Amino acid sequence: MVDLKTPAEVEAMHAAGQIVAAALTAVKAAAAVGVSLRELDEIARDVLRAAGAVSLFDGYQPGFASTPFKGVICTSVNDAVLHGLPSDLRLQDGDLLNVDCGASVDGWCADSATSFVVGTPRPEDLALIATTERALAAGIATAVPGARLGDVGAAIGAVGTEAGVGTNLDFGGHGIGRRMHEEPHIPNGGRPGRGLKLRAGHVLAIEPWFWHGPGSTYLIDDDAWTLRSTDGTRGAHAEHTVAITAEGPKILTLRQ
Ligand code: MG
Ligand code: MG
Repeated sequence: MVDLKTPAEVEAMHAAGQIVAAALTAVKAAAAVGVSLRELDEIARDVLRAAGAVSLFDGYQPGFASTPFKGVICTSVNDAVLHGLPSDLRLQDGDLLNVDCGASVDGWCADSATSFVVGTPRPEDLALIATTERALAAGIATAVPGARLGDVGAAIGAVGTEAGVGTNLDFGGHGIGRRMHEEPHIPNGGRPGRGLKLRAGHVLAIEPWFWHGPGSTYLIDDDAWTLRSTDGTRGAHAEHTVAITAEGPKILTLRQ
């Protein structure tokens, strides 16, 4: 069952989205060589607390995790490609960092992520991030009334394929509302013209996740959360919470 949100409910999610955006902006501004992932988590925690928002991540335990998540952001560095648990690891020059944050206000949720390099970037990392951002924009552009859910995934997948990066379909986007993860699942690939017909009031978290190596695989660290590529391949991830409206897609987690 995929709920439709009223315009007032979309605005409530927008309020949450602006706080998530502010947390990501603060984390990005503070991320520098020598700063620890736990320190970044504290910065995001302060933003949420000051705004009266509730973390969607802290204590979250879906079926695939053997222990609850501890932190308000995922901090995935280099070959830690997704769901990185904040730790005492200190950032080094050239690190590729993915930060993901989710929060609710009055029970309405928003979820967003961004990737960037700390210090001196490797050109291939900047290219991977640019591809991921392009895929996110392409997916969002398809999210209009009358389109099919498959159009969103196909647009994301096409950008990745054209750039020659790897896509992993294990994790993708999702519906969002009163809960962070609602129906439908949105794979980062597939064929257009299929699946749910999008209508004004659907709200989707659209989130391409790519890595350099098309043939890469991952394992989960002993912390039960951090997904790490088995061959050292780096990943990039970008996410926005997007409302489908009669006027077109509206990004609820846009950063200033
Ligand atoms: Mg997220
Ligand atoms: Mg998400």
